Amino acid sequence: MKRILFLDFDGVLNTYNYTKRLVAEGKPYRDEYGDLFDPEAVHSLKTIIDSVPDAKIVITSTWKDTIGADKVRQLWKDRDMPGKIYGMTKPFIPDFFSMDSDFELAITAGKGHEVRQWLVEHAKGKCRYVILDDMSYFLPEQESHQVKVDPFLGITEADAVKTIGLLE
Ligand SMILES: [Mg+2]
Repeated sequence: MKRILFLDFDGVLNTYNYTKRLVAEGKPYRDEYGDLFDPEAVHSLKTIIDSVPDAKIVITSTWKDTIGADKVRQLWKDRDMPGKIYGMTKPFIPDFFSMDSDFELAITAGKGHEVRQWLVEHAKGKCRYVILDDMSYFLPEQESHQVKVDPFLGITEADAVKTIGLLE
């Protein structure tokens, strides 16, 4: 059984509360990669990886497109992040010419299409997956797979427990 964890960064690993606190304390809130991750959210991610060690992390965050895949992998090492990056979704470019009814969904569910495409290409057999994201731009078939994260807090221990339950 394949277990996939689709992972966003903004509002999931970096959080409004942590960034706000760093700024208020006059501390740096970014490094060469971008906004620093909230240690509590990272700890919750570690809880997930420790409980489901064969969960494969697939990055959906737009950081893979902005700073690029190599830098995201480097970030994972430099920031001593839990688990290993298994893959990254590809940006979804809607083909409006061949599209019939799903026009609106193509615009609002870009990340959902990225996830669907990744699953088609990489997980042909049985697979459990969870999408950790603070936004709801996913497809109806993915709704029961999403653990919606509060962007002020990032991944909480409760989110971790829910994620583990869906992956196990
Ligand atoms: Mg986000």
